[in-house]
Order: sequence, then structure tokens, then C-alpha cells
Amino acid sequence: MAGLYIHVPFCQKRCLYCDFYSNTDMGYKEAYLSALIREMELRKNYLEGETLETIYFGGGTPSQLSVENLNQLFEAIYRNFPVNQDMEITLEANPDDMTPAYVAALRSLPVNRISMGVQSFDAADLKFLNRRHDREEALRAVRLCQEHDLYNISIDLIYGLPGQTPEKWQKNLDEVLRLDIPHISAYHLIYEEGTALYRLLEAGKITAVDEDTSLTLFTLLIENLAAAGYQHYEISNFARPGWYARHNSSYWKGKKYLGLGPSAHSYNGTEREWNVASLPEWIKGIRTGKPALENEQLDENTRYNEYIMTHLRTMWGIDLNELSEKFGEKKLKYCLNLAQTYEKRHLLLQKDGKLTLTKEGIFVSDGIMSDLLWV
Ligand code: SF4
Repeated sequence: MAGLYIHVPFCQKRCLYCDFYSNTDMGYKEAYLSALIREMELRKNYLEGETLETIYFGGGTPSQLSVENLNQLFEAIYRNFPVNQDMEITLEANPDDMTPAYVAALRSLPVNRISMGVQSFDAADLKFLNRRHDREEALRAVRLCQEHDLYNISIDLIYGLPGQTPEKWQKNLDEVLRLDIPHISAYHLIYEEGTALYRLLEAGKITAVDEDTSLTLFTLLIENLAAAGYQHYEISNFARPGWYARHNSSYWKGKKYLGLGPSAHSYNGTEREWNVASLPEWIKGIRTGKPALENEQLDENTRYNEYIMTHLRTMWGIDLNELSEKFGEKKLKYCLNLAQTYEKRHLLLQKDGKLTLTKEGIFVSDGIMSDLLWV
């Protein structure tokens, strides 16, 4: 079973913090759609005939595609790939694109999961982040989906904004909990080089929250969602039992996926490929039959390191039998040896053949994961 990721590289305007590849020139849309369908034909063998179990339209802003555009893409997907009957098909959406007509029309497509880029319900936060929507639009968009029987909704939130207080963050959490949705992703604000946000920080116009505040905000997030019955199944992801994001989980479980569109990444177990992060260059490559992409063969040490990094971040953790089968006794012992210090400090737990982060370990997960890597 494998996944298909489709990068939709269009945004009406750029958000302050964003470093995903996207383009505000909608004039490329027709050329993009044709190139995407051609890319499916050129690269479908990457998955070696494996059946698709998830499709993820990410971006950029996939909800900038019309239902007709999406229909065209689904026809091409079904023509080129074997598909599972019970696929998870996610569309990332901006709240202000979710008009009643658009949501109703989406129901004619096989899309069965919406990942909504809400980020915050606070007017000042949304203005600061340069988002297109406001609080009311976000609430209306979720309600519209629910009214149209699209219950499998995930909301993205960002916390750790300059000046954010625990009280303000709590209001956001109260708001999201009232929506009664099955999945929430929450990310700490990151100052990525090259973004407008980074330039503001460099110019001294904003101040990042301090570490204590970050920890308090993360604690509030975990406690509120746990009390409401959400499982903290990955460092930044929370779901009602059974409502895990199947597509993202397949990344963490090391399953194969093919990424189409500019800047999309692919993985087939032995190598990674990534498409050029430029819409014109990507289109040119596809048109000439030579996709503009780079790749990296993954040696055993790199695969071991990726296994540690991806598995430890989930509540399922590292399966020690699987680790030994894939990488041998030597690497298993290496891992267990390094893990001991953290087990003694109750930051890692070894139980039933699994090695997982404890509740305390989640707060220092980056350090633990990098310590377990093969160097
Ligand atoms: S955060 Fe989303 S909507 Fe905003 S610029 Fe990035 S991809 Fe576009």
C-alpha cells in the first residue's frame, strides 16, 4: 500500500511565516494541471504497482482548484494507479475558499477528509500571520463541512506567536474544542530563513516567545486535548481514537509515497526524490519528458536514522523486533544502549517490545532523537 501526494502550488497571497513553495500567479493553472497529469504518466512506476491507500492534496492552497479541476485530476489518478476501495483522500483547504457552493460540490468528489488551515481564531493573530480568513469564516467553514456530512476534519493551529500569552492560547483551544472535530495539528511558530517573519525578527521588530512560555503553551495544548479525549499520537498531532491521519502516518511508518507537483518529495524505501521548487522549471521538465528532480540513495545508516526519527515521534514508537530485522543486532544494541540513560530519567519507556517517548520525554524529543542517531 502506498500514498500519493499532490502539491498544489497556488496561494492568493503569502502568509508571513510560510516557507512552502507556492506561487501567486494563477495564470499557470491550466499548464500546471496538464503537467500534473503528464507527471502521473511519467512517474507512476515509482510505486512499482502498489495500490494507493491515501491521496493528499497539499500546498499551497488546494482549495484554490475548482471542483472541475479536481475532477480532472481524479480521472487521471484512477487511470494511472491501482486504488484501494477504502482510501483516505485529504484536501487541504483555506477557510475562506469553503463557500456553501464549493463544499456542496466537493461532495461529488471522492474527497473524504478536509485539513483546514485555520492557524488561530484570534483576529490579531490572523492579521499578524497575514491569513486571508477571519475567525467567523473559520467557524463557518467547519460547520459547513459538518452539515455536508464531511466529519473527518483536521484543523491546523500555530502557537508561540510573539506576545502570545497562555490566556490567549487557552481561548484558541476552547474555541477548537467546541467544534468537536476528530483531528487537530498544532505547530509551534518557526522562524524559517527567507520568510517575511524571519526578516521581522532579524530587524528586531518582533520578539520570539521565551522557552518557558513555549513550554507552558505546549503543556496547555497537551492537557486540554487529553482532557477532551484526544490521543497525542504524534508530537504535533492529536486525534480521537482511530481518527489518525492515515497519509501522514504512512510517512512516519516508512511507507512508499509518490509526490507530484513542484517541490513535492517521494520515497520508495531505498531513495528519496524531490521535485524542483519552481513552477516554470517543473512544467518545463515535464513537457520535455525529463522531470526536474534530484534524488538521494539512502544507505543503511541513513535509513536507520530516519527510522528512529520517524517512529519515535509517534505514540507507537520504535518496534524493537522490526528495528533488529531491518538493521541487525548491532544497531539494535546501539539504540538500546543509548536509550538507557533516558529510560532511567523516565524520558523513554521500553515496554512490550516497543520504545516510546514518555509524557515528559515529548518535551525534549528533539534532543533524544538526535542522541539515538548513528554517527
Ligand atoms: S501557509 Fe498555506 S496559504 Fe499561507 S502562503 Fe503558505 S501555503 Fe499559502
